[in-house]
Amino acid sequence: MSSTACILCGFVTFLVNTQPVHLLPEIITIGGLFDKGDIKQEVAFRYAVDRVNHEKILGTRTKLRTIIEKIPPFDSFLASKRVCNLVRSGVAAIFGPQSGQTSSHVQSICDALEIPHIETRWDYRLRRDDYSVNLYPHPSSLSKAYLDLVRLFQWKSFCILYEDNEGLVRLQELLKTPSPNEFRVSIRQLPRGDDYRSLLSEVKATLEQNIILDCKTEKVADVLRQAQQIGMMSSFHNYIISSLDLHLVNLDDFKYGGSNITAVRLIDPEREEVRDVMLDWESGRALHAHKHLDKDLINKLRNISFWTTETALMYDAVKLFVMAIQALDNSTDVQMTSLVCEGEDAWVHGNSLINYMKLVKLNGLTGNIEFDALGFRTDFCLDIIELGMYNLTKNAHVVQSIQVGTWSKKTGANYTRTYQDTYRKIVDGLQNKTLVVSFAFNDPYIMKKAGWEDLQGNDRFEGFCVDLLTEIASILKFNYSLVPVPQNLYGSRDRVTGEWNGMIKELLEQRADMAITDLTINFEREQAVDFTMPFMNLGISILYKKPQKTAPSLFSFLSPLSLEVWMYMITAYVGVAFLLYILARFTPYEWQNPHPCNPEPDTLENQFTLLNCLWFAIGSLMQQGCDFLPQAVSTRMVAGMWWFFTLIMISSYTANLAAFLTVERMESPIESAEDLAKQTRIKYGSLASGSTTAFFRDSNLDTYKRMWAFMESTTPSVFVSSNANGVKKVQEENGHYAYLMESTSIEYVVERHCDLTQIGGLLDTKSYGIALPPGSPYTSAISSAILSLQETSTIQLLKRKWWKERKGAGKCNTSKDESGSSSMASELNLNNVGGVFVVLLSGMGLALVVAIGEFALECWDISKEDEVPLAAVLSKELKFVFKCKGSSKPVRKKDSEIDTGDNNLYSTETYGYGAKNPLT
Ligand code: GLU
Repeated sequence: MSSTACILCGFVTFLVNTQPVHLLPEIITIGGLFDKGDIKQEVAFRYAVDRVNHEKILGTRTKLRTIIEKIPPFDSFLASKRVCNLVRSGVAAIFGPQSGQTSSHVQSICDALEIPHIETRWDYRLRRDDYSVNLYPHPSSLSKAYLDLVRLFQWKSFCILYEDNEGLVRLQELLKTPSPNEFRVSIRQLPRGDDYRSLLSEVKATLEQNIILDCKTEKVADVLRQAQQIGMMSSFHNYIISSLDLHLVNLDDFKYGGSNITAVRLIDPEREEVRDVMLDWESGRALHAHKHLDKDLINKLRNISFWTTETALMYDAVKLFVMAIQALDNSTDVQMTSLVCEGEDAWVHGNSLINYMKLVKLNGLTGNIEFDALGFRTDFCLDIIELGMYNLTKNAHVVQSIQVGTWSKKTGANYTRTYQDTYRKIVDGLQNKTLVVSFAFNDPYIMKKAGWEDLQGNDRFEGFCVDLLTEIASILKFNYSLVPVPQNLYGSRDRVTGEWNGMIKELLEQRADMAITDLTINFEREQAVDFTMPFMNLGISILYKKPQKTAPSLFSFLSPLSLEVWMYMITAYVGVAFLLYILARFTPYEWQNPHPCNPEPDTLENQFTLLNCLWFAIGSLMQQGCDFLPQAVSTRMVAGMWWFFTLIMISSYTANLAAFLTVERMESPIESAEDLAKQTRIKYGSLASGSTTAFFRDSNLDTYKRMWAFMESTTPSVFVSSNANGVKKVQEENGHYAYLMESTSIEYVVERHCDLTQIGGLLDTKSYGIALPPGSPYTSAISSAILSLQETSTIQLLKRKWWKERKGAGKCNTSKDESGSSSMASELNLNNVGGVFVVLLSGMGLALVVAIGEFALECWDISKEDEVPLAAVLSKELKFVFKCKGSSKPVRKKDSEIDTGDNNLYSTETYGYGAKNPLT
C-alpha cells in the first residue's frame, strides 16, 4: 500500500476511535437488492443490520433501517426500477444483487447518483465503477491460489472438471500454463443432469490421478460420490475443489477412501469472530427476531449450514458500511437525501463514504478486509484445508477437514503441516482400510496352502511374503486382500508399445494398492511405480544339475600334482643330478683312494659319475637311498637340499593322493556364467517377464549380451513362465539346461532338490521391495514398518522359518558334505609347492659357492706346494673338471718324486708343474 494510503488509514482509525463530533441522523436507510429466491443473502443482510442496531454500534440514537427490494435475476429493467425506488427513499448505500446481469445496471445508477454500491458476488470484470466495492475476492486472485496449490503438490498432470464457463475463468491461471513443460492439463465439462459416471470413467481410463473440480458447492458431494462408485476415490487420487464452501459439504463418506481432498476457504470457523457469530446464529435468537419470516423458513435456515462465503461476505459488507459511516460522521455532518433517478442531483456524502470504505481495514468473518483504489479486495488470506479424520472442534461440519496452510497473494501457498503431521495423517488414514494386494506365486514367497480349495480369502495363501504382510499390517493396522495377478506375471515393459504387464500393470491401472512377492527393484520399474525400502538382498546366479561323480581314471595317481609341478620336478631332478656331477668333479674331496689298503695310490677315483649322480638323485627321490654318499661339504649340501625337497614333495604328494583316492571327483561342465556364454551345448534361460530377463536384455557387458542373444535366438524358447517350471526344466533336461535364477530362490531350491546346485557367484546385486502405485501416500509408512521389522530381526526369523524349517528343508545335508569334500581334493600346483623349489635352488647356489671355495683352496695349496703360479694351476684343474671325461685322476706328485718310468702316471703335462712329464 502506498504511504498516502497508510496515512489515510491511520487517520480513519483515529476518527473511529475518537468520540463523534457530529450527530448521525436517527435513521440511516440502506437498501438491499436481492435476487428472488435468494433468501439467505437477505437474511444475512437483515441479521447483520439487527446486530448493529442491537449492539448499538452507531450509538444509542442512530439505527439502521433496511429497505429490501426483490428482483428476478435476469430482469435489468425491473432492477433499475427497484433501484430508483430505493434512492427515492434516501438510502446511504445499496447492497447486492448477486446476479451479474442486473448488477451492472445497479452499479451505473449508483455511480450516476453517487450512492455507494456494495457487492458480495463473484465478478470477473477487471474494472469497476467508482462508487462500487466488491468484497468477493477477484477470480484472478483465486485462480493464482489454485495454481500455487498445484505447484505446491508438484502435480505433473491434472484434469479440470468444470461445470460452466465461470469455472474456466476461475481456473484461468492454470489454463494459461506458464511453462508448457510444467504440467499437462486436460479439461472436461461435467454433463448436465446428475449422472457424471461416464465422464468420470473416461477420466479414470486415462489413469489421471489429480483432479481439480469446479462446480457448485451443492454438487460437490454428488460428483465425489459417483467418483467413489467408479473407484476414483482411492488413496492415490488427489482432488482440489475450487468451491470456497467445502466446509459445508458433508464429506464423511470420503474420509476413509484415502483420497487427498484439498480446498481453500475464506471463513475459518475456528476464529473467535466467526465462532461468536455462528453461536449467536445457532441460538436462534437472531432468526426469531425476524418476525416477517415464516416459521418453516426459520427452522430451515437454522438447520442448513447458513454461513456460506457469500452470507459471511454480506455480513462483512454491512460491517464495512458501518465503519465507513462512522468515519464519515467524524468528519462531517451526515444528511440523508432522497434522490430521483431522472434528476441531476447526487448524494453529497457518497464520494466520501465510498472513499472511507476503500480506506477502512477491518477484520470480518472473511478475514482481513481491505480494498485497492479500484474497489477490489486486496491482502486477503485463504486457508488451505484438507479432508481427513480430525476431531478438533465440536462443530459437526468442520470435524472432517483441517487447515494445513495459508495462501496470500504476497507469500503464495504456505504449507504449515510438518512431515510428522502428514505422516500421522497417512498412518491414521490407513487404519482399518482394506488394501488390495496383487501378487505372483513363487515358493516360498507366496504359495497355495494344502487344501486351499476349501479355504476362503487370504487364508488360502501362505509364505514368507504373507507373513511379512501380516506383520506390516499389524504395525500399521490395515487389512488386506490378496489377489493373484493374471498369468502370474511379475511385470515387464513392452519395448515397442511401452506398456507394462503383470503386477506393475495392476498398480498402474489402480486395480491394486500394493504388489508383493519376490518382486525385484530395478530402474525400469522404479520409474513407473513406487517401491518401499528393500526387505531382502540377492543377486542373479545359475541353477544347474549337481556335478556327476566321475570314476577314477587309470592315471589318477598323477592327479595330486599339477602337470606344471610334474614338469618342474623332472627338471629339478635332472638339474640336481648334473650339478652334483659337476660339483663332485670340482671339489677335491670327492677324489678318493680306490684302494684304501694302499696308502699311496697312483690314481684317485670319483664315484659321482653322471649315471651315478642320476641314480643317487632318483634313489633319494624315491626315498630309497643309495650305496654311495657324498664326502665333500658342497656335494653334501646338494644332497641335503635334495633330500629336503624330496621329503616335502613326497609328503605332499602322499597326502594329496590319499584325498584323491578316497573321494569321488564331482565334475561340472560349467563353473561360471562365462563358461555358459562360451558354449552352446547347454541351453540356458530365465523367467519370462521377470527382472532377470530384463537384466540380460539391458546389460552392456559383452558376456551377458552374448548370453542374451543366445537365449533370444534359441528355439524352442528357453524362457519359462514360473520359477517352478525353470527348476523342473533343469531337472528334466539333465545337464542340458541351466536356469538363471535369483540367489535367494536358488537357496530355497537347493535346500529341497538335492540334485540341483548353484553354479558360480552372483552376477549382480539387487533387492526385493513392495511396489505401490506412483505417488502412493503409503510408501513411507510401509518403508518404516519394514525397517522396524528388519531392526527387530523379524524378517531374518521369517526367512529362516520359510527357507530352513518349512516343507522339506534340510534334506540334502549329507550329499552336501560329499560335494564339500570333493572340492577339498584338488591338485597341487606351483602356488602350493613353489616354495620348496625356491629352497632347493638356493641350496644349489650355496653348494656351488662352497664347491668353488673348496676348489680354489686346493689350487692355492698346489700352487704353494709346487711353487707354480696359481693361474696355471687353476687353468689346468678347470680344464680337467670340464673335460668331463673319466672318473679317475692320477695322484699329484712333487717333481722329486716323479718317476720317469712307465709306471709314472703323473705327467707334468697334466699335473706336474716343475718338471717335464716323461711320457710326453
Ligand atoms: N524377482 C524377479 C522379478 O521381480 C522374478 C524372478 C526372476 O526374474 O528371476 O521380476
